[in-house]
Amino acid sequence: MSYIRIIFIFTLLLSTLGLFARAEKDKPRNGEGIHSFLKRNKRTEKEHYKQFLELNPNKFGKQNSLKMGVYYTLPPLTPKKTTASTPQATSSNGVKKRDKLFGPKYEEYTIKSDKLKGAVFFLSSGHGGPDCGAVGKVNGKIIHEDEYAYDITLRLARNLREEGATVHMIIQDAKDGIRDEPYLKYSSRETCMGEKIPLNQLKRLVQRSRKINQLAAKSKEKYKRSVFIHLDSRGQRQQLDVFFYHAPKSKEGQRLALTMKKTFNDHYAKHQPNRGFSGTVTPRGLYVLNNTSPVGIFAELGNIQNSSDQRRFIQPDNRQALANWMCRGFIADYENWKSSAKTSKPAATPKTTTKSKKTSKKAKK
Ligand SMILES: [Zn+2]
Repeated sequence: MSYIRIIFIFTLLLSTLGLFARAEKDKPRNGEGIHSFLKRNKRTEKEHYKQFLELNPNKFGKQNSLKMGVYYTLPPLTPKKTTASTPQATSSNGVKKRDKLFGPKYEEYTIKSDKLKGAVFFLSSGHGGPDCGAVGKVNGKIIHEDEYAYDITLRLARNLREEGATVHMIIQDAKDGIRDEPYLKYSSRETCMGEKIPLNQLKRLVQRSRKINQLAAKSKEKYKRSVFIHLDSRGQRQQLDVFFYHAPKSKEGQRLALTMKKTFNDHYAKHQPNRGFSGTVTPRGLYVLNNTSPVGIFAELGNIQNSSDQRRFIQPDNRQALANWMCRGFIADYENWKSSAKTSKPAATPKTTTKSKKTSKKAKK
């Protein structure tokens, strides 16, 4: 007898013993066949029939008829299927989730709260694919904007999910998860949810905007936000600046940007009181803000060419801090939104997508 066979029989024996240990027994009534006998004992599934035959070897008459006076072992009652996954109905706190996009170290995460339950986010990290965005140099190493923006965006996505939000990562890299390294290796692997990213700037922006609009149209959540994250360099400027842009006519976008700025201010005041913070909120007619249906915010989290800003991006902890603060900002904005929805009539003021084709001039990002 082969080794494997012995193990197999042993396992079978154990599992059979396990079944017997808890098994119920019954004897058939007059005229009962297997089906009626099982039915009376509330075993109505196909699987029960099969198990019943296996559990009672050599106890049957011709054509598997039941013998009077014989006790038959009943298969275990299958536990009622818990009313198929309704995570929305109850709090999902403590539920463990997994997303391979976050990389092996971070792919598992736990929903910690439902602060952002009912909110959906469309996160689009700047550039990607054939376009690396702005480039900086630290300690002789070249760093690329799109890699750092992507890392922060992933961290933000994970944070938002932990607070119960629905999050769509619009730009994705199948290989690079959240990376706890100072120097992020450059790749052009990123896709727009699996689609190749075109090099042409306008086409690139049209692609991600369309993707957001398609997903937003299908989302049942009322609070929708699209988020564009950059670490841009626009020449020399004061360090420590964080720029938040909103679409020129979007009241809700402006409120979100102001809330975000305030959240950053508060954190700087608390953690680095001497450092100061000069974040700004500006309306700006950027293509992605003007052409996506959810309320949008466009964040420039610093200047990748500024040596002091570089320190902020190079440290993984700092990238995490930026994501944490943004997450807090969104929680605050969602709360504002909820309370204003209560007081006023449902303020249905989602920006209408600008139909005009004056795009190319404004397509700066
Ligand atoms: Zn950029």
